Amino acid sequence: MKSLLLGVNKKRLLETIKVSSSIGSSEKGGLNRLALTEEDKMMRDVFVQWLHEEGLDVRFDDFGNIYGRRKGKIIDSPAVAVGSHLDTQPCGGRYDGILGVLTALEVIRVLNENNIETDYPIEIINFTNEEGARFAPPMLGSGGVSEEFTKDFIYSTMDDNEISFQEALREIGYLGDRRHRLKNVRSFIELHIEQGPILGNENKSIGIVEGIQGMSWLSVKVTGETNHAGPTPMENRKDALVPSAKMISKVNEITKKIDGLKTTVGKVNVKPNVANVIPGEVDFMIDIRHKDDEVRSYAIERLKEQLSTIALMNDLEVTITTDWHSDAVRFSPVVTDAIKEAADKWGYSSIKLFSGPGHDAKYMNKIAGSGMIFLPSIHGISHNEDELTLDDDIEKGANVLLYVIRKLANN
Ligand SMILES: [Zn+2]
Repeated sequence: MKSLLLGVNKKRLLETIKVSSSIGSSEKGGLNRLALTEEDKMMRDVFVQWLHEEGLDVRFDDFGNIYGRRKGKIIDSPAVAVGSHLDTQPCGGRYDGILGVLTALEVIRVLNENNIETDYPIEIINFTNEEGARFAPPMLGSGGVSEEFTKDFIYSTMDDNEISFQEALREIGYLGDRRHRLKNVRSFIELHIEQGPILGNENKSIGIVEGIQGMSWLSVKVTGETNHAGPTPMENRKDALVPSAKMISKVNEITKKIDGLKTTVGKVNVKPNVANVIPGEVDFMIDIRHKDDEVRSYAIERLKEQLSTIALMNDLEVTITTDWHSDAVRFSPVVTDAIKEAADKWGYSSIKLFSGPGHDAKYMNKIAGSGMIFLPSIHGISHNEDELTLDDDIEKGANVLLYVIRKLANN
């Protein structure tokens, strides 16, 4: 057996990324390759051709997810799946999930040219509409396969021009068959850029992603009384804004006392929002994230308590509702341990971390033990034309991915 420290072909991998970077490229050096557009179709066509060139069994399912299957030695055994997404934001970068798909392709190429067989089959995947930029919500392809969303729901989502997901999928010729959906899979691995500053700050090459943070959106409505700014004495006011400001700083204060908690108040509406009128109503939203769902629930209770107290002290009414939430995801230790081992054997520095944003692996984890490899994003910039991951880091990530796939695809 070839050493597990077999490396990828860096030059070839960078050439492949360069081809991707030329499809849907924007003036400022980024990409505009929205899901199921003409640009997405062009990229898909090239990708499918690459899969055929590697002798893979290529198919696409009823959500347009593209698969390339490489046979394993054990007949009918569960596959090791690897991939991410080739679609981008309208002013997106060249790396994002694209690296996850193209490094997986490089892994297949290395296995093929070295005649390396694996016990289990390997499935390389490009998921449809991960970004959610054209069709919301994000991660519709992986959400479809994992049955997080129903087919009806996915097919009926519309873009801004009232074109449905189903129509767009048919239009570009990637409306495949339900029978082709991914099944019988033992593990899923996704390589992706970090989209945050931790790897850069800690000076580490490989992020071992242990899971995805849970998240809640709370909607807070503070009701006072609208009145004229001139005649109303200060002691007779029921100003909704001043106590709301206290509430927002309280949110920040509580957050700092709870390890790992992140809260953001990014949206505030003041009514009537006129210079000489005392604000009668304020609405704001709190985005709350933590890797531990119990800590997030505890924090929400504390916030509700404290905000209600401030409202009471100011003779105002407050209602706090949870608009939406998503529980934390814990990835499979089988996968995360393999990533750690790979980084150590290669001598690359690594760190365990949690993902802030969601990824295809979040939904894939429902059907197979999953894990993610993060690579450094310079200055933590992503969903931006200036997004950058260095060539050396890409090579390291691909080497780790190759090791992990060989490890997981063998008995
Ligand atoms: Zn992505």
